[in-house]
Amino acid sequence: MDDYALVLNAGSSSLKFSVFERPSGERWHLESRGQIEGIGTAPRLSVKDEIGNSLANKDVAAEDGSEAIGALAEWLRSMYGGSRVLGVGHRVVHGGARFTGPTILDADVMRELHQLAPLAPLHQPYNLAAIEAVFERLPEVPQVACFDTSFHRGQPEVAELVPLPREFRQQGVQRYGFHGLSYEFIASVLPLQAPEIARGRIIVAHLGSGASMCAMKDLKSVDSTLGFTALDGLCMGTRPGSLDPGVVLHLFQGLNLSAKEVETLLYKKSGLAGISGISSDMRDLLGRSEPAARLAVDYFIYSAAKEIGALTAVLGGLDALVFTAGIGENSAEIRQRICEASAWLGLEIDADANNKRETKISTSRSKASVWVIPTNEELMIARHTGRLLGLAAKAA
Ligand code: AMP
Repeated sequence: MDDYALVLNAGSSSLKFSVFERPSGERWHLESRGQIEGIGTAPRLSVKDEIGNSLANKDVAAEDGSEAIGALAEWLRSMYGGSRVLGVGHRVVHGGARFTGPTILDADVMRELHQLAPLAPLHQPYNLAAIEAVFERLPEVPQVACFDTSFHRGQPEVAELVPLPREFRQQGVQRYGFHGLSYEFIASVLPLQAPEIARGRIIVAHLGSGASMCAMKDLKSVDSTLGFTALDGLCMGTRPGSLDPGVVLHLFQGLNLSAKEVETLLYKKSGLAGISGISSDMRDLLGRSEPAARLAVDYFIYSAAKEIGALTAVLGGLDALVFTAGIGENSAEIRQRICEASAWLGLEIDADANNKRETKISTSRSKASVWVIPTNEELMIARHTGRLLGLAAKAA
């Protein structure tokens, strides 16, 4: 293989990675993708090539994120020994108000990013630890941070506002929005895949274990359902989505839960998992007949339809709805039910096109068109990294 760019998405107990061959022009070729899961407990490396054949599946030593980077480096050396890492692109959850686009990392940028850690305590420290671990091992390799918040900067002031006293805003309390790399990817392919709606009023529904929607006008984010943290908006796998803040007060004051317990409840035990008491996994729930599983799915649909209504109001009408991410791309049933719950908007799905997962799944009568477009956050990061670092090979 030629020299390559590495894309990393580091979480608390997992390190996801993709290896992209040096592009020629704008075209990137995915060489392999994989993850180390169970960091600190039972770390295991699994990697597949671009068509899904297994390249590795084995236990590795990784007590923490830094050791996981070491284990990955060892595997990369064994696999691509003769090739160089040209650059590393990282998914970084929080870029705050200042980082409105991908940024080359240095000590000053890292200092600022560390200051944002309290705003995303479950993600930011792990994202930054991975960057530091790479700097330690490969100090000469340039690194780029791509933020989940950047795509949403530039929203109208009212969309970013958290209506608390002004001094809180000055301390960074505002709506940031997340899943920005996914929305940016969709915005980048819409002009090619759906040119007739690309410049219109669009809701993109990123429905995965984390879920949100983005209202786009002219391919720019004007509002999103995730706000100050990744807890707001839609019901998610383990997070509740919109919640009366009085409930949180009650958890502290009435039930005397600790801050840690409330954090665990809100990030890990609510949403589909909490309602069903069975699973956080949509595919699992759709296959179950227990009333609690059905209620969880019903609430997911209800919450999605409600947010579509709210974002349609923000957009002043709707030209298109785009489904993406694990549930949005793979569940014809969920797409159909969300569109049925939004039938008042004139949405009408073609059952056959929906079941076959065609790109456009609405009928010609539908007042707004409905689409399924696979997202690709890793490719978005690779593109940014390549552009910022000037990695593209000169065409022969
Ligand atoms: P993501 O976070 O984007 O990887 O999406 C994960 C979610 O997608 C999980 O809730 C999965 O159960 C769900 N998912 C994946 N495939 C399907 C499917 N065929 N039907 C329903 N849900 C699915």
